[in-house]
Amino acid sequence: MNQFFPAIDETFLKKERDKARKLRSSQWWKRKRSLGICHYCRHNFLPKELTMDHMIPLARGGKSEKFNLVPCCKECNTKKNQLLPTEWEEYMALIKK
Ligand SMILES: [Zn+2]
Repeated sequence: MNQFFPAIDETFLKKERDKARKLRSSQWWKRKRSLGICHYCRHNFLPKELTMDHMIPLARGGKSEKFNLVPCCKECNTKKNQLLPTEWEEYMALIKK
């Protein structure tokens, strides 16, 4: 892989987790979640069933910016955590057909 990942340290993670926590209680997020649609599988859920997901995980240099935060259902969340990034992309390609 020749992708560039910035160095991840505890300070970065803490700062980005704090930002995510603040955004989680914002109107922006409440509105987004109230649509009840998982960003990945596009199925409908109750807003409380959706969690905030970093499309690019913090551990890979993603940030807690609005464009990187999406509502995600439990199933997709679990899959994303279990699969390797390349396997996750294959899964995405599969369900987007
Ligand atoms: Zn989903």
